[in-house]
Formats: sequence, C-alpha cells, structure tokens
Amino acid sequence: MAAELAIAMGDDAPSSGSMQIGSMVPHTCPECHGSLRAIHEGPLVRYRCHTGHAFSLPALFAQNGEAIDNALRNVLRALDERILLLRSLERQARTAGDAASAGRYAAQVGAAEQRARQVRDIVLDAELRGLPPFAAQAQPSAAPHEPGPPGA
Ligand SMILES: [Zn+2]
Repeated sequence: MAAELAIAMGDDAPSSGSMQIGSMVPHTCPECHGSLRAIHEGPLVRYRCHTGHAFSLPALFAQNGEAIDNALRNVLRALDERILLLRSLERQARTAGDAASAGRYAAQVGAAEQRARQVRDIVLDAELRGLPPFAAQAQPSAAPHEPGPPGA
C-alpha cells in the first residue's frame, strides 16, 4: 500500500516498487497500453500500469467499450479518407495523361468502397438489431477512472 500511495503521489520511479506490487494480468492500460498489474484488497481488485494509471474492473470494462466504438469509427473515417485520396490520385493521373495509373486508382477506390460498406454494415446492423454501442454496455455506476488515492 505504501508503494502504491507513492505511485499515486507521483513517485513512479522504479525504486518506488511500482512494478513489484500486484500480479501481472493479460489486460492492457486503456490510457497508455502498458501492461497492468492486479492489486487485490479484500473483495476489491484494482489495476495499475507502470506509469500509475489506475482502474477498477468496471472502469476497465467501460474503457474497453469506448475503445471498440472509437476503433470502428476510426476505421470508417480512415476508409472514407482513403477513398477521397484515391479519387484525387485518379484525377491527378488522368490530368497527367497516365491512364494506366488512373485505372489502378479507380480499382482501388472500388475496393476501399467495398470495405467501407462492409464495416458500415457491421455497425448499422448492430444498431438495427438494437445492440447498444459497446460503451453503453458498461455498468452505469462505473466511473471512468478510480477517483482519489488508493483506498479512497
Ligand atoms: Zn497506463
């Protein structure tokens, strides 16, 4: 507990023991993607990474849901951006009289549009079937972060 309190107070140097307390778990920190250690205190379990981010299990679960929702949105955004870039490349190639490159870019637009449709179908199908966003599946009482110092 003293080592954990030192970490919470900002002393996260290796000598503070931040990597010695608790046991390694297969989860990663939602903030920094570092490995997490589980710290058991009676019926409660807290998870801490080596930089000092701390989470309860419900908070980890909520962060995971947000990560999935954000990842799906980011994939769609990146695919839409790719389609726009490919169309610009296609136009540029046509303007330069490079029909072969323009044709390759046009084919890539088609492939990117198909992938975007597939991802959109996954997201829309879930919404049509009434599945809530992953972030909404968290327990209502779950705070995004453990408030205050350990033991609070
Ligand atoms: Zn972290």
